[in-house]
Amino acid sequence: MRAQTVHAPTVVPGLLHSLRVLLSRKSTRGLDAAEREDLARAQLRATRPIVSGVLLCGAVMMGIIALFELVEVTPSIGYPVWAQLLAAVGVAACAAGIARLEHWQHRLMLLLGGTLIAGIFMSMPLPGAAGQLALRTGLFQLLPLALMALMVRPVSLLALAMLIVVMAQLRIALYGAPGTGTALYWLYTLTTIGFGLVLAGYRTDFAVSAWRMRRRLVQQAHTDELTGLLNRNGWGDHAIAAHAQAAAAGRPIAVVVLDIDFFKRINDDYGHDGGDAVLQRLGGIMRARVGTTGCAARIGGEEFAVLLEGNDALEAQAFAERLRREFGKTQGDVTTTLSAGVAHHQPGETLRDQMRRADMALYEAKREGRDRVHVAGVS
Ligand code: GH3
Ligand code: MG
Ligand code: MG
Repeated sequence: MRAQTVHAPTVVPGLLHSLRVLLSRKSTRGLDAAEREDLARAQLRATRPIVSGVLLCGAVMMGIIALFELVEVTPSIGYPVWAQLLAAVGVAACAAGIARLEHWQHRLMLLLGGTLIAGIFMSMPLPGAAGQLALRTGLFQLLPLALMALMVRPVSLLALAMLIVVMAQLRIALYGAPGTGTALYWLYTLTTIGFGLVLAGYRTDFAVSAWRMRRRLVQQAHTDELTGLLNRNGWGDHAIAAHAQAAAAGRPIAVVVLDIDFFKRINDDYGHDGGDAVLQRLGGIMRARVGTTGCAARIGGEEFAVLLEGNDALEAQAFAERLRREFGKTQGDVTTTLSAGVAHHQPGETLRDQMRRADMALYEAKREGRDRVHVAGVS
């Protein structure tokens, strides 16, 4: 059998994947890749100022220790006070960078750098200086513990945990086994990492439930309860964005505005519930024709709108005709008809202007006798 070579580039993603599976919370299961990324971004937005604040607290702690040494209420571990104050300013600068930098990888570098500086100046005596390891190390490790609880990406958790382990090993290598014994020292270090992981897990659970609730609320605020289509709000958000994107890419766009004919009579003859059932039927036809990702909305009482892009936009009139014919079939003893106005996008035209032309085309369809599709002319 030939020996297999394991390359570092395949080991690291594998390790991260295993860590992600190990750390994955029940609350995040069932989310797809895009939802996970959206959730991660939401968490990063929320935790970034806190991460920066925690590191700043570390800088303040370093400043206080330096002042304690200055007034000799704390024994020195060999660093001159000015060097300690300079290091505190360095850690504060890392905190400021975290608050400002865009890329999370850059922020992670600053986080590790700031934590390392704090660790060295707070808990690693210069050679020959009196060791004060236990208390100082305990004080320092509050910092990575709090930071671990705030980490969102597994790679950041892994990097911080590794930093803690490497610093612990370095301390033992430089200063020998601590007075409490090596075993207790490692238990202490691993407990810090363990608590950090537990807190990060629970913090993630909170973040996931807030993210899910926000998503549900946004969806509710954008959905018409009766038909399941977008409501006016949802149309405003989705159609404007889709229109701008398609226009920027030079793709054809059509807007179809639809209105049920003599709907007031349906309400009068079959009651409000009968009218609602007709609205729901049209909603069902539109959902089936546009799909769940398309942009179809109930923009008023018995007024609907559809945004069509690309090739569909070129066939907008045929699309509206199909809707009209399908909706026009008699259901039980209810006969309904539909009028529609279609407007094709003109260069530089906004969605609002295009809808105005589609509305005018709809008005023409009504004027010409209803139960028809009218295409707007170029204004
Ligand atoms: P036209 O052919 O000119 O469009 O005539 P119409 O009767 O359809 O037009 P109009 O706009 O005058 O009437 C719309 C009616 O829709 C008035 C209102 O009572 C009814 N309506 C609005 N919202 C709802 C709803 O949610 N459910 C029901 N059942 N009726 C609604
Ligand atoms: Mg009507
Ligand atoms: Mg109307």
